[in-house]
Amino acid sequence: MDSLPPQRMLPADNGSHLKATVKIPTDAYMMDFVFSEREDGGIFDNKGRMDYHLPVFGGTVKEPPLHVVHIAVEMAPIAKVGGLGDVVTSLSRAVQDLNHKVHVILPKFDCLNLNHVTDLHHQRSYSWGGTEIKVWFGEVEGLSVYFLEPLNGFFSKGCVYGCGNDAQRFGFFCHAALEFLQQGGIHPDIIHVHDWSSAPVAWLFKDHYMHYGLCKSRVVFTIHNLEFGAHFIAKAMAYTDKATTVSHTYAKEVAGNPAISPHLHKFHGILNGIDLDIWDPYNDEFIPMSYTSENVVEGKRAAKEALQQRLGLKKSDLPLVGIITRLTHQKGIHLIKHAILRTLERNGQVVLLGSAPDPHIQNDFVNLANNLHSSHGDRARLQLTYDEPLSHLIYAGSDFILVPSIFEPCGLTQLTAMRYGSIPVVRKTGGLYDTVFDVDNDKARAEAHGLETNGFTFDGADCGGVDYALNRAITAWYDDRDWFNSLCTRVMEQDWSWNRPALDYIELYHAAKKQ
Ligand code: ADP
Repeated sequence: MDSLPPQRMLPADNGSHLKATVKIPTDAYMMDFVFSEREDGGIFDNKGRMDYHLPVFGGTVKEPPLHVVHIAVEMAPIAKVGGLGDVVTSLSRAVQDLNHKVHVILPKFDCLNLNHVTDLHHQRSYSWGGTEIKVWFGEVEGLSVYFLEPLNGFFSKGCVYGCGNDAQRFGFFCHAALEFLQQGGIHPDIIHVHDWSSAPVAWLFKDHYMHYGLCKSRVVFTIHNLEFGAHFIAKAMAYTDKATTVSHTYAKEVAGNPAISPHLHKFHGILNGIDLDIWDPYNDEFIPMSYTSENVVEGKRAAKEALQQRLGLKKSDLPLVGIITRLTHQKGIHLIKHAILRTLERNGQVVLLGSAPDPHIQNDFVNLANNLHSSHGDRARLQLTYDEPLSHLIYAGSDFILVPSIFEPCGLTQLTAMRYGSIPVVRKTGGLYDTVFDVDNDKARAEAHGLETNGFTFDGADCGGVDYALNRAITAWYDDRDWFNSLCTRVMEQDWSWNRPALDYIELYHAAKKQ
């Protein structure tokens, strides 16, 4: 990498911009710029420590692709627990689509959904940690995945999380994954790790593997949720080369946390996207009619009828509120319950698809379901399971998707809702704040992002807050269907894909490589 001496920029044309000319070698393919008011100080702009990274056109050499290896314990759709699994798959696909090389290393859980793995075969075995580890290779959604199966049975417990010794199992996996790279002579540019479960890679790498052959790699650590494993996250933050979390607002919300605050210089917020191939109302085997923003009204009417039919709800044209969520404190359980009752009071229909890892919460919802199914069987259905195909039909068949989270690092359900022309009704927090702009209150903020308003939002964590957003939403549905339908078209046309965030990650990978 060559560096050039400082260049003075001079006013050009009528003084509307500045100009500088630099001579570069013919084999240069990328240039990084930083700007400074004076040579010795003044205002300095290095794009938040990322530099302005611009391609050179017409050179003799093209930029070599990056090699990125994700080490993770979730991957949609074969081992998905929440949004982390979605992100590993969809970010990898987006980066691969931009001609970079991406691999994923995953434990070979016995509960993997192997229907979505093609060409799975045993590749080789190696020994580490007092056990033999079988390496399997297969393709998932077009991505190359290595599955590690230690013969000590660590991943044969029937679940991803919640098997008693998760920290020990995942710590072992992280070590085994680095050992696999090392023994296999695989030297990626970037090792991308996720949340507490693959956080140990960051320090194992820096303490050991960086010194034996994996020296060219850099570690990027993404926090999907700071709620879990704060101790591991704090340690990984200290060791990693770059760290991200999944929205700007969540990055700001957690900036004061002692796990994060010493490391703000390497911490960036990059919004998640959704995978447009997996979530596509024009091409979705789980909905009755394919649609785009042009026939959204007909498409959603067909989906609503199919949903009502499938769940045994009254087939009539009522405002339908959908909720698709893990049922945990984070997701605003008391607000969810209140919204269900308010929707019924306003003569709407409500469908909840959710499951609770905590048996007390699950029981509580089973009771609520029993009560509502007998009192409002034609208008309420609580489906207390994990059911991906049904989630597609709910995204398509609902008028509104409610997300009243107490905190939400990014949130994918509001983005998927918009892709299917459903209007998000959300609490203003984290990524929900960054992606949903209230039709009545956020016009200026939306414009500042180059967007139009797209939903209903509320502050506070009490029932009055939910009512404020939900009542306006349902009233709009009853009073002005033409306007409501145009809102459905509008949200479908907004781009919440990985197009933009994937470029941000690639910039971050480049910035990490320079360290
Ligand atoms: P989190 O990661 O906190 O659970 P996100 O909104 O980031 O929340 O991601 C949740 C993902 O899981 C979404 O893709 C959503 O559709 C899916 N999901 C949540 N609960 C269920 C369920 N019961 N059945 C099917 N999919 C679900």
